[in-house]
Amino acid sequence: MSLLLSPELTELRGRVRAFMDEHVLAAEPAIVAEDARGERATLAALRARARAAGLWTPHLPAAWGGLGLGVMGMCALFREMGRTPVGPSVFNCDAPDQGNMDLLLLAGDDAQQERYLRPLVSAEVTSAFCMTEPAPGAGADPSNLRTAATPEGAGWRLSGHKWYATGAVDASFLIVVARTSEDRRQGATLFLVEREQEGVELVREIPTFAEPLLAHREAELRFHDVRLGPEAVLGGVGQGFALAQQRLIPARLTHCMRWLGLADRALELCRDYVSRRESFGKTLAKHERVQDLIYRSAAKIHAGNLMTLHCASLLEQGDAGAAKPYASLAKEQVANALCDVLDDAIQMHGGLGYSDDLPFARWYRYARAARIADGPDEVHRWVVARAFLEGELDLLV
Ligand SMILES: Cc1cc2nc3c(=O)[nH]c(=O)nc-3n(C[C@H](O)[C@H](O)[C@H](O)COP(=O)(O)OP(=O)(O)OC[C@H]3O[C@@H](n4cnc5c(N)ncnc54)[C@H](O)[C@@H]3O)c2cc1C
Repeated sequence: MSLLLSPELTELRGRVRAFMDEHVLAAEPAIVAEDARGERATLAALRARARAAGLWTPHLPAAWGGLGLGVMGMCALFREMGRTPVGPSVFNCDAPDQGNMDLLLLAGDDAQQERYLRPLVSAEVTSAFCMTEPAPGAGADPSNLRTAATPEGAGWRLSGHKWYATGAVDASFLIVVARTSEDRRQGATLFLVEREQEGVELVREIPTFAEPLLAHREAELRFHDVRLGPEAVLGGVGQGFALAQQRLIPARLTHCMRWLGLADRALELCRDYVSRRESFGKTLAKHERVQDLIYRSAAKIHAGNLMTLHCASLLEQGDAGAAKPYASLAKEQVANALCDVLDDAIQMHGGLGYSDDLPFARWYRYARAARIADGPDEVHRWVVARAFLEGELDLLV
């Protein structure tokens, strides 16, 4: 196992960093302000630049216009793109579309890939993944799944209630997890559903702790007897839980990569400020308590980075089973590292940090979801503890 990036990846990472520094970081306020007005001019211009630079959807295989990076390659690039929450969208690598592209590649047949994946790759459309339901339905425990599809003729009739479907407000299609039998392991199936299809109700955009931004808008949906043909099944009847897992493990890791980028940038901004700001006769950087804050953040980012790289190396070898507890370890670590680093960044910047003159407060509101979405902290801790207790978690890798 090597955690080091190849020379090619190191070069590519340098290109993405330069692109971010030159074009994207400074554009964040404009993209945020335009998005609040329902406009996308700055984002569209940057997307055109990213395409021209050969950096569009780099996670995809070359046949789909990407760079065929593999998981370690994604790690190298996504950390750079994540240095602002708007970065991944510039390269068409943001959640949930990136994970949905990977799922369509994995499980879609030719017709499904032409109909759904192709326009997603070119960003003509967006998508959403609908698993979570309000209580008593599926949440941290997916076995509570209530949305159901029952056979009707050659096809299906879908009914249910979903919420927290990120991006579903604007999405053109949805990947819906629905119960198709009572089997514990094979009781769920994935369905491709057009968002505008008859019977699909957008109940509301859920107001949340963080301001909506680009795809990060949370939708509540109801499905009222939605009629689906057999071609709507993605990856086989009964494969829903297995495929959702296959989507979720790498998706958790790509979240970690983006979050590490944001945490690292926040700490860089702290370095600039504490090196300049004088207090009690010396710069903040010379106060030991401030050094302690810097140390805490540096250690958390580095630990999360190593966990992410290690898990990425397992996924790269195709060992998703072995990777599962390590993905939980990384996800819990990096989600908490991001929240802690941003909280400390606010502290180190004092009143300026608390103000909206700097992005930390907005980033913190965005980051707080990391400890809940894609499985809450407690469930990941449980997965890790269980794997360790069963002798399936080797810590001294
Ligand atoms: C911003 C955001 C975006 C999201 N995007 C999507 C999306 O695109 N698609 C989608 O399907 N879902 C999405 N989700 C939903 C997310 O995956 C769920 O919120 C998460 O899995 C937890 O489920 P729940 O909210 O129903 O919490 P519940 O299941 O009600 O759990 C509540 C709390 O109970 C505790 N808890 C639960 N189980 C255990 C346990 N075993 N041990 C100890 N404590 C436990 C945890 O503290 C947990 O936070 C999103 C959520 C957020 C916040």
